[in-house]
Amino acid sequence: MHDVLIIGGGNAALCAALMAREAGASVLLLESAPREWRGGNSQHTRNLRCMHDEPQDVLLDAYPEQEFWQDLLKVTGGNTDEELARVVIRASSSCRPWMRRHGVRFQPALAGTLHLSRTNAFFMGGGKALVNAYYRSAGNLGVQVRYDAPVDSLELADGRFVAAFVKGERIEARACVLASGGFESNREWLREAWGRNERGEWPADNFLIRGTRFNQGVLLKHMMAQGSDIIGDPTQAHCVAIDARAPLYDGGIVTRVDAVSLGVMVNREAVRFYDEGEDFWPKRYAIWGRLVALQPGQIGYCVIDSKAVGRFMPPVFPGVQADTLPELARALGLDQHRFMQTLNDYNAACRVGNFDHTVLDDCHTEGLAPAKSHWARPLDLPPYYGYALRPGITFTYLGLKTDARARVHFGGVASENLFVAGEMMAGNVLGKGYTAGVGMSIGTAFGRIAGSEAARAALKKADHAVA
Ligand SMILES: Cc1cc2nc3c(=O)[nH]c(=O)nc-3n(C[C@H](O)[C@H](O)[C@H](O)COP(=O)(O)OP(=O)(O)OC[C@H]3O[C@@H](n4cnc5c(N)ncnc54)[C@H](O)[C@@H]3O)c2cc1C
Repeated sequence: MHDVLIIGGGNAALCAALMAREAGASVLLLESAPREWRGGNSQHTRNLRCMHDEPQDVLLDAYPEQEFWQDLLKVTGGNTDEELARVVIRASSSCRPWMRRHGVRFQPALAGTLHLSRTNAFFMGGGKALVNAYYRSAGNLGVQVRYDAPVDSLELADGRFVAAFVKGERIEARACVLASGGFESNREWLREAWGRNERGEWPADNFLIRGTRFNQGVLLKHMMAQGSDIIGDPTQAHCVAIDARAPLYDGGIVTRVDAVSLGVMVNREAVRFYDEGEDFWPKRYAIWGRLVALQPGQIGYCVIDSKAVGRFMPPVFPGVQADTLPELARALGLDQHRFMQTLNDYNAACRVGNFDHTVLDDCHTEGLAPAKSHWARPLDLPPYYGYALRPGITFTYLGLKTDARARVHFGGVASENLFVAGEMMAGNVLGKGYTAGVGMSIGTAFGRIAGSEAARAALKKADHAVA
C-alpha cells in the first residue's frame, strides 16, 4: 500500500507529492490527463505573488506582509479567511529556494501593463517549464506517476480516507491529498451555476475556458455528496475578458487582451458599462470577464487608438483595424450611430493631465457615467483597433473548507488523513476577486502543507501498524 496518494497533476499536487516524498513517504500521483496534457491550469501560468521585505533576486523593492494582506482584503471585499490568507502570504516569502531546488528558474517581469516587477516572481519558461521541472524532480525522488488516471470517487470511513477509484480499480493509501482543481472545465455545471438571466440567455454558454479541459469538478461534486464542508459561491471565479476567437479550452494567456485600461470598452449596444481606468490592470483584469458576462450576448468590445499600441502585451490575434471610428464600428458589427455617440461623449469628457500608465495618473473624465478614472485620453489617433471579448473562465472558487493544516472537514470535524490543496480550496482565501499570481501562491503554500501533513499522517499510521 502507498503511504500517500495525490489526486491531481498540477502545481498543488506536485508540491504535495514532493514534500511527502521528501518527508520519507512513498507517493503515488494520479493525473487524469495524458502525459502530454499533464499539469492542469498550472502549465499555463507565468508567476507567483511573493511577499518580501527587501529586494530579492528577481523582485524589486519590498512587498511587505501587510501590503499583500491589504491587497487581498481589497480584491476580496473582506471575503477571505485571514488566518489562511496569512499562511499563504508568509509561505510566499520562503518558498522560492525550495522551488529552485526542484528545478524551477525565475526571471524578472517583462515590460507591459501588468506592473508586476515588485510583487511577482516570473517562472523562466512559464508554468509549463515549472510543471516539467517538478515532474522531473518527482521522478528522480521516486514518486510514482500515473497518467490517464481520472479518480471518480473515494472510499471514506468516518471522515478518514480509505481508497480511491480509477476506472473501477481500487487504490488504497494511508493518506490522501486532493488537488484536482475546480470545476471550470465542466460546461454543464457552469450553466447550472450561472442559470438563465433576465434576457432569457444562459450566460455560461458563451464562456470560454482559458485552461485545461480536465478540471471537471468530479471529485468536488463527489466530496459535496459525501458531506464534506464546502466553501464559496459557484458563480465566483477568476474570469477574464479574452479574445472571442480563443479556443474553447487551453487558449492560455496569449488570448488575454490587456488593452482595456488604455481605451474604452463598449457592449453589443455600443454603450460603455464600467470604469476602464479604475485601478492598475493586475488588480482589475480579473473582474472584466464577469462584467462582460453580465452584458447582453456576453460580449464586449475593447477599442483603442494608435497611442495605446506598444503599451500592452500584444495578444495572439491582431485586432480589427480601421482608419476611422465609424469604419471600426461597422467592422465590429456595432451600431455606428450609437458607437459614435459613445465615443464622442467619451472623447469630449477626457481631462488629460500627465499621462503615465505606470501610476494612477490624473487623466480622467468629467461628467461621464461611468467615469474613466485614470489613463483617459481621447481616442483620436488612427488607425483604430477593436477586439471582441468573451468571458474566459480561469478557475472557480467553490471548494472544500480547510484549515491551516490543509485538512478536509466533515461537519466541522477535521479528517485525520485527507487533505486538500490548490484550486480545490482556493475559495477559503478568495471568496471573490483576484490579484495576479495569488493562485500559485495558494497552491504552493497549501500543496506543501498538505504533502507534509499527509506524510506525517501516513507515517504515523504505518508506525502504529508495525507496533
Ligand atoms: C491561462 C491561465 C493563466 C494563469 N496564470 C497564472 C499565473 O501567472 N499566476 C498564478 O498564480 N495563477 C495563474 N493561473 C491560475 C493557476 O493556474 C491556478 O491557480 C493553479 O494552477 C492551480 O493549481 P492546481 O494544482 O490547484 O490546479 P491545476 O494546475 O489545474 O491542476 C489540477 C489537476 O488535477 C487533474 N485532475 C482533475 N480532475 C481529476 C481527477 N478526477 N482525477 C485525477 N486528476 C484530476 C487535472 O488534470 C490537473 O492536472 C492561471 C490559470 C490559467 C488558466
